[in-house]
Amino acid sequence: MTSEELKPRGLLIVVSSPSGAGKTTLCRRLIEEFSDIVFSVSYTTRPMRRGEEEGIDYHFIDEPTFSRMIEEGEFAEWAEVHQHRYGTTAEAVKQALEGGRHVLFDIDYQGGRQIKAKFEKEAILVFVLPPSLTELEARLRKRATDAPEAIERRLKKAHEELKQYGLYQYLIVNDDLPRAYERLRAIYLAAQCALDRMGPVAERLVKEAESQAQAALPSKDGDGPKG
Ligand code: ADP
Ligand code: 5GP
Repeated sequence: MTSEELKPRGLLIVVSSPSGAGKTTLCRRLIEEFSDIVFSVSYTTRPMRRGEEEGIDYHFIDEPTFSRMIEEGEFAEWAEVHQHRYGTTAEAVKQALEGGRHVLFDIDYQGGRQIKAKFEKEAILVFVLPPSLTELEARLRKRATDAPEAIERRLKKAHEELKQYGLYQYLIVNDDLPRAYERLRAIYLAAQCALDRMGPVAERLVKEAESQAQAALPSKDGDGPKG
């Protein structure tokens, strides 16, 4: 077994929801709590919003640059969402996985579908539901980061997005934020213990446990463990 095979594989945690349901808020909390998760900073042609920073929230690029990146095969996934294009580079995913980190994606269902198809073993797909469409609208208006027409577009799209839940493995209703976060956290922690994702690492862990048990066994002459 190579040392590569003995490292646990990184997880690709995909979190999607209709705009305004709270996925960015939930994702930020997860990254703050767990330093071994890297946020996948997407590329987008959307204009920067108040309070956003280049390279932190997104890499903000123009349409020709986005088209060139598609042609050169740089994206692991990309999609058009709310009249702008968004994409995740294959290099970012590869670097994180090779570095033994987990990667968190705040992407839409079209991207979720592509990540699921390409990285079936590593992907964990989480869909965040708003408690109601009325509450979704209230959150978008309160967030006040989008123009009224953009809010209307996002609300119309919400119906289409909600229909995509079947693609996902986990569903979280974000009614009460602390409760919703506890669920996301639990999904992340449980995924790290899933045997089917561990591969040869599981065997190593069992062997280590066995060898420690051997060391702790009493010796034949009944002296008990040494040292
Ligand atoms: P998304 O990333 O899904 O578009 P955000 O994380 O930006 O959504 O959340 C939309 C707005 O709703 C933000 O102003 C956020 O502070 C607020 N919000 C998130 N979760 C809750 C919640 N459980 N209850 C009330 N407001 C929330
Ligand atoms: P926003 O403009 O509100 O930041 O994001 C709009 C939508 O685009 C959200 O649903 C968000 O998850 C999605 N999105 C952000 N980055 C990507 C990406 O790289 N790929 C895909 N497919 N969707 C993305």
